[in-house]
Amino acid sequence: MIKAKKSLGQNFLIDENILDKIVSLIQIEKKNILEIGPGTGNLTSNILKKNPKIVIVIEKDKKLAEKLKQNFRNKITVINKDILEIDETSLISGKLIVFGNLPYNISTEILSKWIINLKDNFWFDHLVLMFQKEVANRIISKFNSSSYGRISILANWKLEIIKICDIKPEAFYPKPKVDSSLLLFTPKNKIFKLKDPKNLEKVTRVFFNHRRKMLKKPYNQLFNGNQNILDKLKIDLNLRPQNLDFETYYKLVREYEYLRS
Ligand code: SAH
Repeated sequence: MIKAKKSLGQNFLIDENILDKIVSLIQIEKKNILEIGPGTGNLTSNILKKNPKIVIVIEKDKKLAEKLKQNFRNKITVINKDILEIDETSLISGKLIVFGNLPYNISTEILSKWIINLKDNFWFDHLVLMFQKEVANRIISKFNSSSYGRISILANWKLEIIKICDIKPEAFYPKPKVDSSLLLFTPKNKIFKLKDPKNLEKVTRVFFNHRRKMLKKPYNQLFNGNQNILDKLKIDLNLRPQNLDFETYYKLVREYEYLRS
């Protein structure tokens, strides 16, 4: 048995029902697949059963990467690198379906990075990613909820998000301390146009800096008390950051960009 490395967040998915569920969510046959953090290759085997066109896996752990090369030989391409250092758009010319059961801190970081860097032509058709349950709930959260925040606003900007299921620690070896959730992301057809996604990051950062406080202070900081925008977007400054829906944030960012242009 492979000894799991804590530093790389190695919790291998071993529940056959869940592995089967993951590869049955969307069509894999004849598609180009990217798997990140394949570990011992449990999910990889299940992906291969579905007859994909090509499978590329990115695994940071050198030993595991070597093992994967031996076990799967010419059926997959193994890249022994850190996913955070990869330019995903340069891997192949066609679109990818991405599967990932990464360490939880990296899942969130990589999701933010991908959304910020996304160009109009998406490099993927779907992302199927595992998160810590609590983080997944933040990602899919809607306004007026205490879990609503920056990652919900950012992720929902370009992506349709569906929660597939929650997964208990028993489905992994070794068992993680927390519950997990599997999310399916698909590019939206219509995306609210912004000049620079960094402005979305900035505006939401200022608003959510004090999530229990009223909107007045962050609004004044960013918009210098501009009353027109408030009237136009029907914003009540006595509300809290979590009370504004996605659209209102995107519109605010557009106004912010307009003021600065
Ligand atoms: N998907 C596998 C393994 C999950 S454990 C399974 O379900 O069984 C997480 C995996 O991600 C480990 O194999 C770990 O080595 C790998 N990993 C951790 N950080 C990584 C990074 N930055 N880039 C690529 N792989 C990483």
